[in-house]
Amino acid sequence: MEARKILIIEDEKSISDIIKFNLVKEGFDVDTAYDGQDGLRKAIKQRPELILLDVMLPSIDGFEVCRRIREVSMVPIIMLTAKEEEVDKVLGLELGADDYITKPFGMRELIARIKANIRRMEISDSGKNLPENLQNFGNLTIDMNRYEVRKDEKVLELTLREFELLKYLAERENKVFSREQLLEEVWGYEYYGDIRTVDVTVRRLREKLEDDSSEPKYVMTKRGVGYYFRRS
Ligand code: CA
Repeated sequence: MEARKILIIEDEKSISDIIKFNLVKEGFDVDTAYDGQDGLRKAIKQRPELILLDVMLPSIDGFEVCRRIREVSMVPIIMLTAKEEEVDKVLGLELGADDYITKPFGMRELIARIKANIRRMEISDSGKNLPENLQNFGNLTIDMNRYEVRKDEKVLELTLREFELLKYLAERENKVFSREQLLEEVWGYEYYGDIRTVDVTVRRLREKLEDDSSEPKYVMTKRGVGYYFRRS
């Protein structure tokens, strides 16, 4: 099998080098860029299977690089953040990043995240070749195989993660899951990850799915416990 290509966009050469060393050891094919402009160019031209993207970069910052990559590609992006304020920004903005990891991070954790993100992408890609598998929930139709959601016949633009969260909950209607459970089942992390990621994804999903996201009718909160799906 051909080695999977990963692009590291990080201006601190010492960090970039150590990540590259470890990823090559894991069998990945690694390319590097040391500023936002070059990173963006390589992201578009070389079509990596995953991108590690530092936030603070010369020329164009990581937030802007992420936004511009998303205009043309759904490649998984893991943001590398150094400060709590950057985490809040990654979580709060509609950047389309799939994940983030806070510096300093351990290599085992980073590699686990990378593998989880690539695995998710492959599952969704393989679904595109499967026949339709439509399930109706009130005025919502979910194609469980092809990763498509329609509300009143209008296709909703969900990210991979938003779709997977919706699919997971809808397939288990009325069953309540804690945020930790969802992180493990939907994101695929056993030990790592931030449960705020789940809350942010629920919020974005509601904004796209619900008539009024402050009065959800599909993705429900069970106070003090977690989330569940209810047929509207
Ligand atoms: Ca930096």
